[in-house]
Amino acid sequence: MSNRVVEGRMVTPKRLAELVEGEAPMDAEPIEDAEMDCPECGGNVISVGYMPSVTEFVTAYKCQDCSWSDTDR
Ligand SMILES: [Zn+2]
Repeated sequence: MSNRVVEGRMVTPKRLAELVEGEAPMDAEPIEDAEMDCPECGGNVISVGYMPSVTEFVTAYKCQDCSWSDTDR
């Protein structure tokens, strides 16, 4: 299980990627700890690698406590 609680809700890797990307990805890897603190609130940041399309791989970063997110694009 790599489901994690984000902003009070349990999310799957695909759902986490969708929160950051705005649309559901084709595929997503298990959620990992990003080992960084949120620049907005100091909360724990998690990361998920996903494929928004067949030719692209993106790593997204999302705070578990607030709405902050970023990608490595
Ligand atoms: Zn935060």
